[in-house]
Amino acid sequence: MASASGLRRIMEDIAITTSSSPGQRWLNLGIGNPASIPEVTAIWQRMTAEALRVNFASVSCRYGSSRGTPELIHAIVNYFNKRYDWNIGPQNVVVGPGSQMLCFIAAALYTGPSSGRSTNLVIPLLPDYTGYQGLCMTPGGILGIEPDVQRATGRRFRYQFDFLALERQKDIGMILLSSPSNPSGRCVTSDELERLIYAAETADVPLLIDNAYGEPFPSIGDALLAPIWHRNVINCFTMSKVGLPGERIGFAIGDERYLHSMVSFIANSALHAPQLVQMAVARALDSGDLDAVVSSAIRPFYAERRKLGERLLHSALPASVAWRLHASDGGMFSWIWVEDDWFDDGAFYQIMRDKGVFIVPGRYFFVEPENGSRLGAHARQCFRISLSTDEATLREGVCLIAEALAEMQSGKS
Ligand code: PLP
Repeated sequence: MASASGLRRIMEDIAITTSSSPGQRWLNLGIGNPASIPEVTAIWQRMTAEALRVNFASVSCRYGSSRGTPELIHAIVNYFNKRYDWNIGPQNVVVGPGSQMLCFIAAALYTGPSSGRSTNLVIPLLPDYTGYQGLCMTPGGILGIEPDVQRATGRRFRYQFDFLALERQKDIGMILLSSPSNPSGRCVTSDELERLIYAAETADVPLLIDNAYGEPFPSIGDALLAPIWHRNVINCFTMSKVGLPGERIGFAIGDERYLHSMVSFIANSALHAPQLVQMAVARALDSGDLDAVVSSAIRPFYAERRKLGERLLHSALPASVAWRLHASDGGMFSWIWVEDDWFDDGAFYQIMRDKGVFIVPGRYFFVEPENGSRLGAHARQCFRISLSTDEATLREGVCLIAEALAEMQSGKS
């Protein structure tokens, strides 16, 4: 917790480099921000203006409930009960300052040392969101399970769960995964979900599913599962990827035995999440405007961008390079593997940076294994590009990626 993760350092490098060289044009394919979509910005401006006009004095000028404002809790309960035919109540919901914080709270509560033993935060399918690696206060308390890497036709590949390795784990405190995954875009299937729930039930621990890119919002992808209700599952949702990353607002839904302590944690640490934005989100849920903008603007935008990104990669990347693209069921990124001995993601980052392009090296999405890696060089052979940049940046960036790969292959860089 006292030092920045590897990826944070890269993000800082990007921020400092771009702001300290104002004359130079940088192509940033490294960003985790959602795309700037005018219809989405307009909805939030309208909802925030209404909240500011009607609720400012009662919510911004007063402390409130640690669980969340009654209006937002009510809106969430209604929305999920209606949409998924659930039967949840306010006791099953907590609103927090972003889903990163909610994941941190759950990891702090359910993993680490307690009553004479120490339990781990288990990430059941590497690679996964780098932000998870800063969630643990105990050194070595995060355990990532390496995937089986399946090569497929048409330059595709796909990670598969190693469930036997998961089921061998003894000291599980919580299981955590993103679906669709950041970075690979992989969505968990219903059979896989059953198996993950079985592992959580067996260990009697929570399975936290981070739906940052999934259903019901922003709903980016074609193979998304609806969130499911189960007494061992905590579902986490965020407003960041539907256009409000700077407002720090997310919420979790789960069994009362977990949610009760998460509310106490917020009361003890932050008191509560910011409230004006909660009123804006409550309006967007109640009015149906959030659902409308997801289906009319957000989903089509990313579907189009993914198609474009993949078309550009296929037409630009050198045929002689052994590159593959992860089968992307959804999410905001493309995840590329270069299965050649000469490729190293760290060196590639520097070469791309020299060309004025930022990509994200893949190594930060893997957790160092305790007893040696089965993956060999794979964890140093991947990189992530973001599909949320503007189209011109994506086009030019992919051409420069192709150029850099050709140079690396020929030993020129
Ligand atoms: N979870 C995943 C999978 C993410 O990719 C991100 C941000 O990139 C977060 C959580 C953080 O979300 P929030 O802004 O709600 O804290």
